[in-house]
Amino acid sequence: MTNSDKNVGVNIEVDVDNGRFSPDTNRHQIIEDAVRTILQAVGESPTREGLERTPHRVAKMYDEILAGYNIDPIALVNDALFDVEYDEMIIVKDIEYFSLCEHHMLPFYGRAHVAYIPGEKIIGLSKIPRIVDMFARRLQVQERMTRQIAELIDEILRPQGVAVVVEGAHMCSMMRGVKKEHPRMVTSTMLGSFKTNPMTRNEFMDHLRRPTGPTL
Ligand SMILES: [Zn+2]
Repeated sequence: MTNSDKNVGVNIEVDVDNGRFSPDTNRHQIIEDAVRTILQAVGESPTREGLERTPHRVAKMYDEILAGYNIDPIALVNDALFDVEYDEMIIVKDIEYFSLCEHHMLPFYGRAHVAYIPGEKIIGLSKIPRIVDMFARRLQVQERMTRQIAELIDEILRPQGVAVVVEGAHMCSMMRGVKKEHPRMVTSTMLGSFKTNPMTRNEFMDHLRRPTGPTL
């Protein structure tokens, strides 16, 4: 619900339910002003040639790398659900993603692996990377992103089980502090038969250990 009575400043409408700016507000201008402020605060001159258009570029960049807030997940998958009698595991491996950690607004990135055992429906193959992308293009923590991917697939497909494993390299830990070790973080969410049946879970984890064949 958008309520223009809740304006904060000029031309800014806040979504009352979640505190976000509604899409029709002048978001670019707000971000540009904020970036200019940051540039000044770190000791830069926002008017020097190289930085002159930086606030504008950053504002436009957020449209793209934070686009996931504005995607309707139901619309995303609606035309791609199929009734199929198939109850073997379906695996989509090595889905590349890029996200921003919500603690530092620095990138974390890596690969997501998704598996499910269908109930009555399957989903078009290309939709799973798009689901990953929708959740990655937000301010995130890897644990929550992993769970959100699994829960959305669970909700849409009502499968017998769904598993999501996400590997991530986090720039906020790589660029800061002790610089010599950068372990990749691995998070997982197992639902349904992946949670209750160790054999199912192991079959998935075995798949992840296998290198992807050159013909794929
Ligand atoms: Zn961080």
